[in-house]
Amino acid sequence: MLPLLFAAAGINAVVGFVAFETTRSEVREVAATRAGALAAAIAKTVDRSALVPQLVAQDAQVLALLHTTPLASDAQTVSRRLAQTAAETGTEVLYVLDRNGMTLASSNWDQPQSFVGRNFSFRPYFQNAAAGRPDHYMALGTTSMRLGYYLSHPVNIDGQFSGAVVAKLGVDMLERDWGVAPDIMLVVDEAGVVLLTNRPTWRFRTIHPLTEAQRDAIRVSQRYPSQELTPLPIQFSKDTATLNGGADVGDYLVSSIPLPQSHSQIYVLATAEPVWAHTVNAMVLSVGLLTLIAASYIFLEKRRESVRRHVEREARMRDILEQRVDERTADLQLANRRLRDAQGDLIQAAKLAALGQMSASLAHELNQPVAAIRGFAENGLILVERGRLPEASTNLREVVAMSERIGVITRHLKAFARRAPPDIGQVPLRPAVCHCLALMAGRMKELSVNVTVDVADELIVTAEEVRIEQVIVNLLQNACDAVSDAERREILIDADSSGAWIEMRVRDSGPGIALEILPRLFDSFFTTKSAGLGLGLSISRDIIREFGGRIEAMNATKGGSLFVIRLPAAA
Ligand code: ADP
Repeated sequence: MLPLLFAAAGINAVVGFVAFETTRSEVREVAATRAGALAAAIAKTVDRSALVPQLVAQDAQVLALLHTTPLASDAQTVSRRLAQTAAETGTEVLYVLDRNGMTLASSNWDQPQSFVGRNFSFRPYFQNAAAGRPDHYMALGTTSMRLGYYLSHPVNIDGQFSGAVVAKLGVDMLERDWGVAPDIMLVVDEAGVVLLTNRPTWRFRTIHPLTEAQRDAIRVSQRYPSQELTPLPIQFSKDTATLNGGADVGDYLVSSIPLPQSHSQIYVLATAEPVWAHTVNAMVLSVGLLTLIAASYIFLEKRRESVRRHVEREARMRDILEQRVDERTADLQLANRRLRDAQGDLIQAAKLAALGQMSASLAHELNQPVAAIRGFAENGLILVERGRLPEASTNLREVVAMSERIGVITRHLKAFARRAPPDIGQVPLRPAVCHCLALMAGRMKELSVNVTVDVADELIVTAEEVRIEQVIVNLLQNACDAVSDAERREILIDADSSGAWIEMRVRDSGPGIALEILPRLFDSFFTTKSAGLGLGLSISRDIIREFGGRIEAMNATKGGSLFVIRLPAAA
């Protein structure tokens, strides 16, 4: 913050400085222009009459008038000529002085204020002319009491100074044109006395205190009324001035140019007020602008900060959300796995339940060959004892065949009971059906069910052997249940392929399925049997779905139930 403040202060200082300098130079330029215009106006007035004294100095009558031995030149005639020339050139007074400074002829000879007979040897313009130097001189007219601009020119006769011609111009009327401008305009002589000014009370006051010598010179030349020559309350320093009193108190910018011929100087004092006013304005504006910039910057920064915070908050919330989703996904995966495990458990349980139902008939199925084996073995013993060996070996072959049959059943039982790995492959349909029939053989025999199998050897489905067998066992058990009370006990299993699908049908001669329970047949725990679990069909449907297939139940057209399984054919 502190460096920013310093920077702002720096910028402000520069703005102030630039405003100060530009306005200052503008004001000074205006003052300089005004001073130039003033110099031009004075030059215009003076130039009109500048050559008049020199020309008159060569006039034959004037020369005759000033000759050591006065010729027949009459002063009055000369005065008349001077009056005429003065009128033609706009000169206020035109007069001729002799070598002692005495006025011999003058354009105002016939007026009360006539110069004729007056001695002007005390005036420096005469003294300079006597020394051979034409002169420009400003002074207060001793008779007219008006400011005059005097132009003098020596008259030399035979190389001898014989007198001077002087033209007096009125310049005080210049002041009238200046008016009371806020700028102060001054024409100041070489000693510092104010001659012309647009501040009337300043006339004949000085811009700095006069020395004694300067006062003496003024007194001797009767140039100004000497009692008025008091210093003005003004202080010059280089190109500025300060007024410490009067109506114009304040700081000023000074522009000055010399009027070399009349040994004077023009001063234009322009008030420095606009400089300060402009500087202050510029600085106030700059402070305002800087404040605005700072405010916008702070505002934008705040906004950016809040946007950033918002984005951060969103990111944080997204993270939390993602984390929750991850957690939830993990939970779901766990739940899924548990469900799968539970389903696996359920399938296994259902299978074992099915086995439990089969156990009685299975025991019977196994008991039969075991009893037969015993019979054959006992007979075999007797035949061996009696030496009838060929017959004994026939008996032993029967024993082998019987135990073979027991082996087949127990092998299937073992395979069926094992927990199936989730490993889908190619399963030939006919052997699978035969295995199931082997397991069900006891029950079927008990019920004297007539089973027909019409499944071609080449039908191979994409499935998992143990589980597809579980489905077939379920269907066969339900079919046995259904036909148990029927007069005609028939089960028909057939299958065929149609392109990518293999369709297997299990039909029974039971009572069929009541229409109102048909929609709920595959629901878990739906059963119409007193000892039923209601899981067989629901598990069968899950298994078939897992293989990408479908199972449907319906009533066969010829009576009884019909279960149709569609499974994808192996490639
Ligand atoms: P459970 O056999 O334990 O009852 P299932 O899910 O295997 O369970 O069968 C559900 C019900 O579907 C049976 O209770 C029975 O009412 C009906 N059902 C199944 N198969 C047949 C069939 N072949 N004929 C008539 N009804 C059947």
